[in-house]
Amino acid sequence: MKALVFTDKGRPTVEERPRPTMLAATDAIVKLVKTTICGTDLHILNGDVATCSTGRILGHEGTGIVEAIGANVTRFQVGDRVIISCITSCSSCEFCCRGLASHCTEGGWLLGHTIDGTQAEYVRTPHADGSLHHLVKGASEDVQVMCSDVLPTAFECGVLSGCIKPGSSVAIIGGGPVGLCVTITAQLYSPLKLIMITRDTNRLKIAKDLGATHRVSFGPNAVKEVMELTGGRGVDTVIEAAGVPGTFDLCQEIVAVGGTIANLGVHGCKVDLHLDKLWHKNIIIATSLVNTSSTGMLLKLIDSGKIKTDALLTHRFNFAEILDAYSTFGAAAQHNAVKMVINF
Ligand SMILES: [Zn+2]
Ligand SMILES: [Zn+2]
Repeated sequence: MKALVFTDKGRPTVEERPRPTMLAATDAIVKLVKTTICGTDLHILNGDVATCSTGRILGHEGTGIVEAIGANVTRFQVGDRVIISCITSCSSCEFCCRGLASHCTEGGWLLGHTIDGTQAEYVRTPHADGSLHHLVKGASEDVQVMCSDVLPTAFECGVLSGCIKPGSSVAIIGGGPVGLCVTITAQLYSPLKLIMITRDTNRLKIAKDLGATHRVSFGPNAVKEVMELTGGRGVDTVIEAAGVPGTFDLCQEIVAVGGTIANLGVHGCKVDLHLDKLWHKNIIIATSLVNTSSTGMLLKLIDSGKIKTDALLTHRFNFAEILDAYSTFGAAAQHNAVKMVINF
């Protein structure tokens, strides 16, 4: 089969690889129908994810058709159309029982990280019962690819960890696919102000179309603009969806007394914590990796039309063009790109 592989040159390559085989009775083999590229894949190529070694088939998002199941898989049959979750969950270890599947002792973030991932014609999904979801009927398969990672990450690590409340003020720093999915799912909690902060003018426009009430360009005036929008108080919830020191600094400057900073960016280097300015402000700083516990609920909202993510799907490629898809996603601002759908 053809597969997209992480090499040490900082660039991915397409290689011929053997098809995956079943290693445990709880495994499934899935034939991919759609996959996509995540900002995290770019972080891996950048060398920010030391736990991912070269030679790895990348990708932790996708939909497909179940090709084979192990004897202990009960929720899925051969031929089922499924969404592959970015998090593998055994559903029974201490962490899974505490709702922390991201730290599952036999799972967590494995695909495209410590085992081969979904940017290939076939993938082995361990603990299939806890790690796959059935496709729903009310939305296109393109839209449902968002439920592998970006939508549950935005909702759990941004909206829930950020404690967004009705009538509150929210700033989202970073207008990538996850930041834009926060814009969509934050509105489930009716914040009064929803401020998108990014440098990318196209993404500021998309955020407005998706319901952001205010737009601020990331730069030297960002703090002043946010303070003007909030009567000098700052915002109740700041969501860091970029993963660089400058954006984390901005979070610390604009968080209001009693507020929450929710980090969901993937940080490849250390940041400064300005505790000398924050120690007395009664704030919370939350970090999280998605547990995908909300995926089933989000699929119901998509199925019913309550949330819509179609506007984020800006580019479509065939798998033979996946290197072009990487180039486009890697220079997203230049191409007005948000989320790529790659069809097999
Ligand atoms: Zn991802
Ligand atoms: Zn587990």
